Amino acid sequence: MKEQWFVPYRYKMVEKISIPPKNERLSILKQGGFNMFSIPSEKVYIDLLTDSGTGTMSDKQWSAIVSADESYAGSRSFFDIKKAVKEIMGFEHVLPVHQGRAAEKVLNSVLIKEGMFVPGNTHFDTTKAHIENAKGRCIDVTISESENSTSDYPFKGDLDIYKLEEEIKKVTPEKVAYILITVTCNSGGGQPVSMQNIKDVHKIARKYSLKLFFDAARFAENCYFIKTREIAYNNRTIREISNEMFSYSDGFTMSSKKDAIVPMGGLLVLRDVDIFDALKPFVILNEGYLTYGGMSGMTMAALAQGLYESTEFDYLHYRIGQVKMLGELLKEASIPIVTPIGGHAVFIDGRRFFPNISEEQFPAQYLCASLYEAGGIRTVEVGANLADRDPDTGENIRPKLDLCRLAIPRRSYSYEHMMYIAETVKEIYKNSKSITSGFQFDFESKGIRHFSSTFKLINSKRESLFE
Ligand SMILES: *Cc1c(COP(=O)(O)O)cnc(C)c1O
Repeated sequence: MKEQWFVPYRYKMVEKISIPPKNERLSILKQGGFNMFSIPSEKVYIDLLTDSGTGTMSDKQWSAIVSADESYAGSRSFFDIKKAVKEIMGFEHVLPVHQGRAAEKVLNSVLIKEGMFVPGNTHFDTTKAHIENAKGRCIDVTISESENSTSDYPFKGDLDIYKLEEEIKKVTPEKVAYILITVTCNSGGGQPVSMQNIKDVHKIARKYSLKLFFDAARFAENCYFIKTREIAYNNRTIREISNEMFSYSDGFTMSSKKDAIVPMGGLLVLRDVDIFDALKPFVILNEGYLTYGGMSGMTMAALAQGLYESTEFDYLHYRIGQVKMLGELLKEASIPIVTPIGGHAVFIDGRRFFPNISEEQFPAQYLCASLYEAGGIRTVEVGANLADRDPDTGENIRPKLDLCRLAIPRRSYSYEHMMYIAETVKEIYKNSKSITSGFQFDFESKGIRHFSSTFKLINSKRESLFE
């Protein structure tokens, strides 16, 4: 009991937050076309839009910022990152970039030639867009358990090894640019990938002489799940697990806005010096010189410190425990959430939450809007809107799951906030079966449409989304 309530922090600084009146919340939604990205953040009470860049930095990160080195070339703060990457991941060749997608752009513009493929577990949206922008295509080979929102399989981010090999044979190994494992699998619900699976994928990569890269935004959370769910790793430290995990990869892209708990920053890290050398000019051209790459010295200093903090077990236990606590509060109330509960977010199954809204009418998006109206809580849809259209056929892609994501910022919200969120979800759920219509597009923007498309209500006479 005592251990369960162990919070390894106390507050040293606070930020005031407040909630606008209910009628104002509905008009804010309408003005913004029910798109969560169009809500001004000052009008949000609890912001669960993303766990990206929204974490609370520690006193040690702030003091690293004060003593950061802003030199253009050879910055000490860059060498702090190199040291952390060496100790935690075991790599020598580090390219700094301003955020994760910049690393993706640089990597894909060099490794992908037209008509090549990147098989992996459900690719993140910017990852997929950058692969397609380089005229490549993604192949999703996530295990079939990931499609079942009620299966308790502990590593739903795993790749289906059989499917992976079949796909490689089908397109031919020469057409495979590289294999990508996303840890944890963000688009798949923050679900982890097991060490065993990483080893198996590594074997396939070697068999066909293919490179294996990680999308490592949440590497530390993945290590926590390996430690707590994979018996062979129970007694290993997070850093030992991290070192082993990365030993199977040829490099990684990383958004530092997630596990490294900085507001901005990213890394592109390579094992192979030839690839490293080939990427350098792209970093200089797009991001900046090789010892800052779009980051300030302050960002680099905080990032290096954040990497160490993210791999402390008591932090991860509290962090993932808080997400799990919210999930369990919802589960106890029979809210249809994806299980097991992921590392950085709780996902509510929109199709099951609003069983009478047809799936073409965006039930998960409707839940996001309802949560803002009911409690000033901002979430995001990871479903039919995000899935977008097939770039070749132009048809809407039907995602396996239509989800409302409640992403929990790191070290930012309290137990009371989790209770408030759970109570708000329950309030909407009470009446959810009586809601029989959802949204249609008002404006559908072309390409990664979820950021700027707008919706209108099918039943325009509604005075509240959920009552
Ligand atoms: C956030 C994220 C990215 C993109 O990183 P940005 O820093 O937002 O550019 C890529 N992959 C995954 C898995 C992510 O979560």
